Amino acid sequence: MATLELNGLGHVYENGHVGLSGIELNIRDGEFLALLGPSGSGKTTLLRTIAGFLRPTSGSLAIDGKTMAGEGTWVPPEKRGLGMVFQDHAIWPHLNVAGNVGYPLKLAGVPKTQLNGRVAEVLEQVGLAEYARRKPSALSGGQRQRVALARAIIASPKALLLDEALSALDEPLRARLRLELRALTREEGLTAVHVTHDRAEALGLADRVAVLRDGMIQQVGTPAELLETPVNSFVASFVSDATLFPGTLVDGNFHADHPGLRLPMGSGSQRNHGTRLIGQPLASGSRSRRAVAAVAPTSVRLKPAGSPIHVDNLAGGPLARVTSALYGRHGYETSLDWAGATLRVLVTGWTPKEGDMVRPLVDQAHVFCEEAGAVQGRAA
Ligand code: ADP
Ligand code: MG
Repeated sequence: MATLELNGLGHVYENGHVGLSGIELNIRDGEFLALLGPSGSGKTTLLRTIAGFLRPTSGSLAIDGKTMAGEGTWVPPEKRGLGMVFQDHAIWPHLNVAGNVGYPLKLAGVPKTQLNGRVAEVLEQVGLAEYARRKPSALSGGQRQRVALARAIIASPKALLLDEALSALDEPLRARLRLELRALTREEGLTAVHVTHDRAEALGLADRVAVLRDGMIQQVGTPAELLETPVNSFVASFVSDATLFPGTLVDGNFHADHPGLRLPMGSGSQRNHGTRLIGQPLASGSRSRRAVAAVAPTSVRLKPAGSPIHVDNLAGGPLARVTSALYGRHGYETSLDWAGATLRVLVTGWTPKEGDMVRPLVDQAHVFCEEAGAVQGRAA
């Protein structure tokens, strides 16, 4: 059980590359926090800085109110009382499962009977009670990852740090381990920081998610907050898979740069009367300014090309052509060519086919006052 406080934490690598910058984050006791971001966004750098494998070059880190790094203080990794699991289950090949799991206690000089008892306990917890004598080479990837998890929690750490710990596993094993991991941290009241680039995993598991980009935190919030009130177009695009339209905001109307696209403000209650625009810039005067509209795949309805549209419904705009439709658990993940722009839409209730002509109706869009230069495509 522990709180983690990161104040203005930064790390510049020796080659001058800025790995982290100005990280402000308070992780609560018993909280499961996901660190989410694209490859290269600084997730591993942040986790390694918390663990003590990297020294921050600015700012400070405290665990349970005690400074671990910064302000002239440095506590080495082994003294921080943290458990870690990496993607590549770094377990000793020459030790059996019990030997691997008990290693941290052996190192700490825990007497043998006590050690054996605790090993049996955690192996039971991770579902490996029958495998104590097996060598890692005779285990599946999922079992090896359970060994790594058992080893990380055997010394009752203050917090558990996981770096893409499940990413190398195949579904559905991965989904099962996800649930087991969550149950385990709940049972033990463990504070967990779980690094992942998998959006569904972060949103499904975490109490709160911190979204990283270029070494900086973009937003920290509950999964619902990230989906409903993204703070910028990057978060909207990375977390919700929103399509981003650069354009101009004038008098509360958004004019997309793409020719023919217009997202007029509607009341929100009259779903057929246009697009509900959400965002702070709408409240601040009528000055024309550059903006980005983010349209989530769940905010678009598709009407057959021939269906009559309400005269008020300027959101209809030009017809769109289905360019691909992938069947998924929640519907068809459909891509449209809409006046030259690519629009992603989640289609439920019917089967879109490549080449179908449809009329997209955008129910709502988040609008951010950002320079067009700041607009990024969908983060890979
Ligand atoms: P992530 O885990 O989100 O994929 P990393 O934390 O590994 O990202 O890397 C963040 C950035 O720091 C990347 O641009 C990466 O190239 C850079 N980086 C990572 N390790 C080093 C290093 N040892 N020296 C210089 N740059 C590094
Ligand atoms: Mg990484």
